[in-house]
Amino acid sequence: RIVVAGSANMDLVGLAPRLPRPGETVLGDDFLMMPGGKGANQAIAAARAGGSTVFLGAIGSDAFGVNLNARLHAAGVDMQHVRTSYGASGVAVIMVDHGGENSILVAPGANNSFVGLTPAEQAAIAAGDVLLCQQEIPVETVIEAARVARDGGTRMILNAAPARALPDELLACIDLLVVNEVEALAVTGGDRIDVPGLLALVPRVVLTLGGNGSRYADRDGRDETVPAFHVEVTDTTAAGDAFTGALAVAWAEGRDLVEAVRWANAAGAACVRRMGASNALPTRDEIEQVFRA
Ligand code: ADP
Repeated sequence: RIVVAGSANMDLVGLAPRLPRPGETVLGDDFLMMPGGKGANQAIAAARAGGSTVFLGAIGSDAFGVNLNARLHAAGVDMQHVRTSYGASGVAVIMVDHGGENSILVAPGANNSFVGLTPAEQAAIAAGDVLLCQQEIPVETVIEAARVARDGGTRMILNAAPARALPDELLACIDLLVVNEVEALAVTGGDRIDVPGLLALVPRVVLTLGGNGSRYADRDGRDETVPAFHVEVTDTTAAGDAFTGALAVAWAEGRDLVEAVRWANAAGAACVRRMGASNALPTRDEIEQVFRA
């Protein structure tokens, strides 16, 4: 079982020939609405990848919240412990032009009210095989969840996205850190990827390298680059979420971490073949198809 404690936003995506300049109105041509936020995306990714997945977080009492709940539930995510907080849900207002360039405004709304874990939330974490967190909810909540995981014998994965330095109290509880290159630099400081520096902070690291796949390293001296699967790339949005969700599932299933990373690479590759964000997250069958090709 995978427990994701994190953010949920409604993504409001408008498509237009070009992005408006400040003060300007541009007539667009398409609009869609779908679940977003790294927490919700990774929960959907894990559920689609075949993991029994519980989401912990706060969703607003507005119409977006009702819709978010329903969509995550439909994706197979256990939403029974999700909080409804009075007021607005997290929302991302996203504008995309025909060249794929975007502008994004995130209003965190209910996500910021996700503080102080309830006994039921703590019990859900302690009952999990893997706790997966990101950095779009208050950091004190991530720290608290990580401590509950450590005390309950649940392995903790932190996907340190969006990029920022990590407090020592959090580092002390991380079993596996998943970072892309930008996030790796933010964690260690400096202007070069420093894997030994990362391993001085946490026992295991997965570094994602986009089209170059990923790299696994741990304190037992393993350091392996795992190549990407070759696919036709349509849109790399949410590749990191597909990868991280699938990695959590594979680790919860007890697979060796290098094997788990290889399988997660297949999930990332399956995601970039398709246009979109949470709607592009692959099912287990789709991951297997890429994995076996
Ligand atoms: P993020 O989206 O967080 O920056 P990456 O771009 O590193 O993350 O992508 C996450 C994973 O998705 C990679 O480790 C890789 O396995 C897969 N991936 C990303 N881009 C491609 C690509 N162009 N071709 C194949 N796999 C890809």
